[in-house]
Amino acid sequence: MRILDPHIHMTSRTTDDYERMAAAGVRAVVEPAFWLGQPRTNPGSFADYFDSLVGWEPFRAAQFGIRHHATIALNPKEANDPRCRPVLDLVPRYLDKDSVVAVGEIGYDSMTPEEDDAFTRQLALAVEHELPALVHTPHRDKAHGVKRTLDVVRESGIDPGRVVVDHLNEVTVAAVHESGCWMGFSIYPDTKMSPPRMVEILREHGLDRVLVNSAADWGKSDPLLTVRTGEAMLAAGFSEDDVDRVLWRNPVEFYGQSGRLDLSDVAGTGPLFEGSSILRGGS
Ligand SMILES: [Zn+2]
Repeated sequence: MRILDPHIHMTSRTTDDYERMAAAGVRAVVEPAFWLGQPRTNPGSFADYFDSLVGWEPFRAAQFGIRHHATIALNPKEANDPRCRPVLDLVPRYLDKDSVVAVGEIGYDSMTPEEDDAFTRQLALAVEHELPALVHTPHRDKAHGVKRTLDVVRESGIDPGRVVVDHLNEVTVAAVHESGCWMGFSIYPDTKMSPPRMVEILREHGLDRVLVNSAADWGKSDPLLTVRTGEAMLAAGFSEDDVDRVLWRNPVEFYGQSGRLDLSDVAGTGPLFEGSSILRGGS
């Protein structure tokens, strides 16, 4: 199994996680800029964080043979703090960096006017910088949040094929499927979305424009849930080629639209599952 985890917060994970991920077949990750738990009080904190997403974290990942890319944005939650608003002026500088493959996470947390403004402005930045956009959807009042998200995406004029709407579930998947945007699913240990539920969604909606991630952050999460989803797909009768498409070729296609996805040395050039028995380790 070869995996590109399209949404994972490695800043919050240990080297043990990198080691286990590499052993299980994770060859590349995309780490979106997001909040860090403790609220930040000035733009300088963001500049240091963004620098670590394009500097330190790729270096750390490389020691385990994992390629690291990032997405950069002012996240929806902190968009509500007037002290953080100037971050919007910092973002464009980072969107020019080689390892930045999208604008994100943008979107809604509590659906305030401040979030509206940051969301709209950063979708415009995605268009201007010719980058895809990674859109977070609220965990509360999800159906309403997703509907409003899709309205804003439509009004922005960005090509829906360059937008992933993330953290979807059974209730919200159909609207995003219809919109032409990519559908992102974060798989969690106990809540929100599990490997068996993900398999059911793939059965119903197909494999097109689907991205599966582990989101793994500071809360209870598991960076191997992409792998577990691949295993659940195989157990349910999907082919190895189907698994490769969902866990590797789909994220490569989506972020490849940035023109900056660099998978040389990690992509593998031989047959689809070349080396997978070694990469899988004991699992
Ligand atoms: Zn996230």
